[in-house]
Amino acid sequence: MKINLSGKVAVVTGGSRGIGQGIAAALHRAGATVAVLARDGGKAQAAAAALGGDHSARGYACDVSRADQVESTVAAVERELGPPAILVNNAGTTRDNLVLRISDDDWNAVLDTNLKGAFLMTKRVARGMIKRRHGRIVNITSVVGLWGNAGQANYAASKAGLVGFTKSVAKELASRNVLVNAIAPGFVETELTKGITPEARQAFIDAIPLRRLGEAADVASAVLFLASDFASYITGQVLVVDGGLVL
Ligand code: NAP
Repeated sequence: MKINLSGKVAVVTGGSRGIGQGIAAALHRAGATVAVLARDGGKAQAAAAALGGDHSARGYACDVSRADQVESTVAAVERELGPPAILVNNAGTTRDNLVLRISDDDWNAVLDTNLKGAFLMTKRVARGMIKRRHGRIVNITSVVGLWGNAGQANYAASKAGLVGFTKSVAKELASRNVLVNAIAPGFVETELTKGITPEARQAFIDAIPLRRLGEAADVASAVLFLASDFASYITGQVLVVDGGLVL
């Protein structure tokens, strides 16, 4: 199975490191021109440069929770790279605490990036996709959004919200050939999960039927599939990529 995305422009939010960086690399290897977005523009540009250093990848500073930045960044992508055919809403953050200790700021910070960010990006990018009668949107949720997790009520709420958002937008945009799906990774070792103790890490491995933690490339392969012509009859779905953790 060979996936060919040449001629397509892909936007990956949170593409400067971790899972997003892996997704950007996989889309680029498949021939897509990739816009890498992150709040730290220098890191987004460095990640884009590492993909090849030519005009096929470019980094942009963009806080996805800010409507003004989403507007100006997507306009710049359209001008400089072309209209996006693929949007991966991957930017995400955590502010873990027990629910009684979650401050308003920590609630808002997580919901603003993980859920409102996906809404703002989708609303802005889908406009052109609808006009062109073609588009793929992949939202990165989490198994935590499906199953809950003590100490992550804000994060779980944002990721569960993303599931409802995915299904609703899939229904709205299907008639325009814009397909919207989500991927729910299990545990992937990145900066987001680096605080875990060695004991908790081992407990995860013991609980995963495939007996290893996930890698960015595992999630990236699933994105590649959903962005490709091989998935042209799939919309509104949540693909769990967790080694069997929550079977
Ligand atoms: P990560 O290593 O912390 O990377 C997060 C990325 O998002 C960075 O590029 C960061 O760059 C960017 N970002 C954060 N807030 C942003 C904002 N407001 N606007 C734009 N970009 C923003 O995280 P990760 O582990 O790769 O996670 C990627 C996605 O997968 C997240 O949605 C996460 O919830 C999800 N996920 C992760 C795991 C896991 O085990 N790691 C499991 C399930 C789901 P800047 O800081 O420069 O903005």
